[in-house]
Amino acid sequence: MVIVIKPKTAQEDIEKIKRKMESLGCEVYETIGENRQILGLVGDTSKIDPDLIKANRYVEKVMHVQEPYKKVNRLFHPEDSVINIGNSSIGGEKLAIIAGPCSVENEEQIVTIAEQVKASGATFLRGGAFKPRTSPYSFQGLREEGLELLKIAREKTGLPIVTELMTTDYIDRFVEDVDVIQIGARNMQNFDLLKAVGKTDKPILLKRGMSATIEELLMAAEYIMSEGNENVILCERGVRTFEKYTRNTLDLSAIPVIKKLSHLPVIVDPSHAGGLWWLVEPLAKAAITVGADGLMIEVHNDPSNAKCDGQQSITPERFDSLTKTLKKIATIENKKL
Ligand code: PEP
Ligand code: MN
Repeated sequence: MVIVIKPKTAQEDIEKIKRKMESLGCEVYETIGENRQILGLVGDTSKIDPDLIKANRYVEKVMHVQEPYKKVNRLFHPEDSVINIGNSSIGGEKLAIIAGPCSVENEEQIVTIAEQVKASGATFLRGGAFKPRTSPYSFQGLREEGLELLKIAREKTGLPIVTELMTTDYIDRFVEDVDVIQIGARNMQNFDLLKAVGKTDKPILLKRGMSATIEELLMAAEYIMSEGNENVILCERGVRTFEKYTRNTLDLSAIPVIKKLSHLPVIVDPSHAGGLWWLVEPLAKAAITVGADGLMIEVHNDPSNAKCDGQQSITPERFDSLTKTLKKIATIENKKL
């Protein structure tokens, strides 16, 4: 961190700032220019609030030399992280394919879809039990019953289950029942929820908020990791832009950017990004081509009667042909499916 001091500041006021920074555990190097004094801070500046420094009336500006996230940062962890979930994993050379309906509707629906996606190569089953809906009058999910049905589908197929947690109230239940806890886009900056899942050792699938920058997503992951849970998987699911044709705009460049900045695995959700079933295939192919570690895809056996997100769900048959195409792309990318 670099602190630029205002011109004509008295040396004793500069000394006060230096002493304050040293008391926070940093070494301070002073550079005297013709018109400017600059203080360079060396050491762990992660706990220093730059706004507090900016509030000092002798400070012109504060510049970051390093990113504000540590545990997430590739700098301190050059190898790609691989998150192990039972006999499966996310990250590394094998692509993770998470597939299933937007929401769990009944036993027959979830078990049938689970069997179908497994046969086509899915490695995880998704299904919302607690649904974050824009309207309070829309289907809110089967809640606890949904979790029970997911467990039945896991029992029958062996696929680990991924489902969204919306409140800390259910955290113990999720730790007990679920293989990967999803934190949805709407809760990406629910810091109490992030800290709570950070205290568990469950793999956490953290989805990018619909208006979140890449740095905000990485800081949200830092919240989880700073509590001790290093099993974080990031998910790009499109961000809100001026474009209205698609539900969101898939930020494909986020994948190589995140890969450069962080060691955490990153997957792509083309279903919530495009919001249209026929966009799922091209976006999924693009995601793997730019280096995603996997995909989360909404699959429904009767999309026109789905209780949630039928318009963006692909049928099991289309999912099957998509995985065949993805297998070929994976080979070119030195990955496996
Ligand atoms: C979901 O995956 O079920 C979901 C609601 O997605 P998002 O949080 O990305 O909108
Ligand atoms: Mn959905």
